[in-house]
Amino acid sequence: MNITGRTKLLGVMGHPVTHSLSPLMHNAAIAALGLDYVYVALPIAPERLGEALTGLAAIGMVGFNLTIPHKQTVMPYLAEVSDLARAIGAVNTVWRTEAGWHGTNTDVAGFIAPLQTMGRDWSQATVVCLGNGGAARAVVAGADQLGCRSIQVFGRSPEKLAQFQQSWQSSPIGAKLSVHAWGDLAGAIGAADLIVNTTPIGMQPNVDVSPLSPAETLAIRSGTIVYDLIYVPRPTQLLQQAQSQGAIVVDGLEMLVQQGAAALRIWTAADIPIGIMRQTLEQHLGGGSRSPVK
Ligand code: NAP
Repeated sequence: MNITGRTKLLGVMGHPVTHSLSPLMHNAAIAALGLDYVYVALPIAPERLGEALTGLAAIGMVGFNLTIPHKQTVMPYLAEVSDLARAIGAVNTVWRTEAGWHGTNTDVAGFIAPLQTMGRDWSQATVVCLGNGGAARAVVAGADQLGCRSIQVFGRSPEKLAQFQQSWQSSPIGAKLSVHAWGDLAGAIGAADLIVNTTPIGMQPNVDVSPLSPAETLAIRSGTIVYDLIYVPRPTQLLQQAQSQGAIVVDGLEMLVQQGAAALRIWTAADIPIGIMRQTLEQHLGGGSRSPVK
């Protein structure tokens, strides 16, 4: 990478942010495109977010991604928030215009990208979403964009489930969304066309656990798509077991790559080398992970 006096600045803000794989994959794509940009990790404490945005506008930063804990709290500092990001309640991609910072969410595009290549008719699909946190919101919006008929969200806290449902009430998505206690999962798994894990259960270092019990796993029908948003390890215990049930499995790496590619497209308007971004992450994760599942 050749940093010059004209190099434009991109980055990811988080707290902490040292674990982020975004600098690696974005800089690989930037190098392949021959663009004069650099993408850096920006550790920003929650109470200094407003100050940071003002400073980054002053130095002419082009745009940035946001990760925990800034995805919701950034909204008041933005001149404009896309309808999609507002519906989800989270911004992960921001760019600078003369009017100020604009924000949107590319997690939804990232989530649906591998599903869109499967050539399925989603109009009759029933989706079971495990968990009701931030990523589950992108999954619900994505399932709606695909045109799925029913979206069932399972969680362990009745209060959080009720809040989750309430937050979609004023959206058309509310009509196809239902929330359920974790204990009712067994009855739903066998009828699901798409099962998505948005919980951290099975993520490194706790690789020998699955969000589904043995009985729930056995209820997965052959041909069901089981999608785990986790990307370390690849595959997770859930995906390994689902695969032996005849399920089609998708891990979280493609979502990570595709949300990044969508952001880089916004900032640079370039034709993004998605293969390079994917390969860079696969090589990086390869050593410590199980063999890839897709
Ligand atoms: P989050 O907001 O903290 O949500 C996590 C959800 O999991 C919450 O609903 C939580 O329930 C639930 N949960 C945690 N432990 C559980 C357990 N033992 N039993 C049942 N439910 C449990 O986190 P997030 O931002 O949504 O991220 C969730 C996962 O998705 C992480 O593994 C993250 O790495 C992954 N992710 C991947 C991508 C990608 O690009 N591939 C993007 C975003 C996120 P409570 O609310 O009751 O605590």
